[in-house]
Amino acid sequence: MPTGTTNDTPRPLLIGGEFRPGGTAPPLDSINPATGQLNHRVAAAGADEVNDAVACATDAARHKAWREMLPPQRAGLLHRIGELMLRDSERFARLQMLENGKVWAECVAQVKSAATTFRYYASVCETLVSELTPSRGNYLSMTVHEPYGVVAAITPWNSPMTMEAQKVAPALAAGNAVILKPSEITPSTALELGRIALEAGLPPGLLNVLPGTGATVGAALVEHPGVKMVSFTGGTASGRRIAEAAARKLMPVALELGGKSPHILFADADLDAAVEGVAGGIFEGSGQSCVAGSRLFVQRSVFDRVLKMIADKARRLRVDLPDASGAEMGPIASFAQRERIEGMVDAARAGGAEIVAGGARPSDARLDAGAFYLPTVIAGIDNRAAIAQQEVFGPVLCALPFDDEDDLIAQANDSAYGLASGIWTADYKRALRIARALEAGTVWINTYKQLSIATPFGGFKDSGLGREKGLTGLRLYQQAKGIYLGL
Ligand code: NAD
Repeated sequence: MPTGTTNDTPRPLLIGGEFRPGGTAPPLDSINPATGQLNHRVAAAGADEVNDAVACATDAARHKAWREMLPPQRAGLLHRIGELMLRDSERFARLQMLENGKVWAECVAQVKSAATTFRYYASVCETLVSELTPSRGNYLSMTVHEPYGVVAAITPWNSPMTMEAQKVAPALAAGNAVILKPSEITPSTALELGRIALEAGLPPGLLNVLPGTGATVGAALVEHPGVKMVSFTGGTASGRRIAEAAARKLMPVALELGGKSPHILFADADLDAAVEGVAGGIFEGSGQSCVAGSRLFVQRSVFDRVLKMIADKARRLRVDLPDASGAEMGPIASFAQRERIEGMVDAARAGGAEIVAGGARPSDARLDAGAFYLPTVIAGIDNRAAIAQQEVFGPVLCALPFDDEDDLIAQANDSAYGLASGIWTADYKRALRIARALEAGTVWINTYKQLSIATPFGGFKDSGLGREKGLTGLRLYQQAKGIYLGL
């Protein structure tokens, strides 16, 4: 529970280029999960603000100045947003650290990554050309890609800056106006993005920021007739609800959802490097990453050895306040999320699972007020166990043995999810064979969690619909039109 108060005036939301105090909905409490203290309050949008934002965004999207803006000018705006983000990187990183508890170095890296996304889409937007189709008769035809108009971007709390950039940059580059609805747990970096976009010269109304809850603001945006496309990142259950509402409007949606990614380790791998990769893949960001490698499959001949190595590594990881020097893992992003994680681990323990490391809060009294939870390694379960099937979204690794490639593929693909996966082996032919057989949108070989803005990213199965990043990530926000010219 929050105890202290640092600032009682809610931070205003952004509509049509103006910062406004909140509306009918009660303000959001921004809580520091490392201390339980109130950071500040943030105004939350209600129905009136949703209507106003859609009206402003619609005008801005239709405005000649934006529709007819030449690519170099639009690219210049996006470049400038990236530059200002880097100029203010300390402020962005600090806000994220205060709201979701990620360690400082990761917050700094994520500001850089978000700025890179704006710069990348600035370049993409300059290189876009319409396609001329070879003539099939007495006419000339061409394909042009046009924006939808108003796009709602709805983002989660685990990596707010990178998710926000991943939607806002391509949606603007594609010529849309955006209404950004950040998570109620991490609303502040989105407002900062709105501020620097205005400073960069983005015309008012092209980026509106509406903090609020999913059930009110998020759902109202999805259902609003003026919103023409929704780009969502979050949990699979919320994604399904959004897709159902979008179907009623026949509106396109892009969904980046949850995961239960297999991280595979063969006996011939460089075990030290692999264990480092596995630990980073699950414990970085306290496991609150959609691509967290939460199911570790180890070839049976080295299973006991690897289990000991990863459990030792988990016990040695420095769990600390996110701004403490040398901190490797901060708190869970909210107290509610820690409770959820504890409930899932306790249920696994009660069901006979072996908790090899962690499975508890840290005993360090300095961390008592925060939402901390130890890096946890679980064994003695099979892949059908609830803890191996459900997304925990916390620092919880399930270790499972496999016998041969067939057994491995059957187990790894036996999941509702299909977001990411990792393979560690010295045998590249085998690695590529398995990479092709895995039902996952991303496969890492002898590395994990490397991400390039130029490479499409998204999920198979319940992990999503559509691909962000790269040129594909810009086309998400456009619809194709064929134009014919009689000769
Ligand atoms: P969440 O689904 O609870 O919320 C995500 C966002 O959606 C929030 O802004 C929330 O307010 C809003 N929302 C919730 N219900 C809504 C509704 N019915 N209509 C409209 N908006 C709604 O998810 P979360 O707890 O914030 O984030 C964790 C989840 O996000 C995990 O499952 C994680 O795997 C997933 N995630 C996926 C990716 C990816 O790229 N695939 C990246 C990060 C996180």
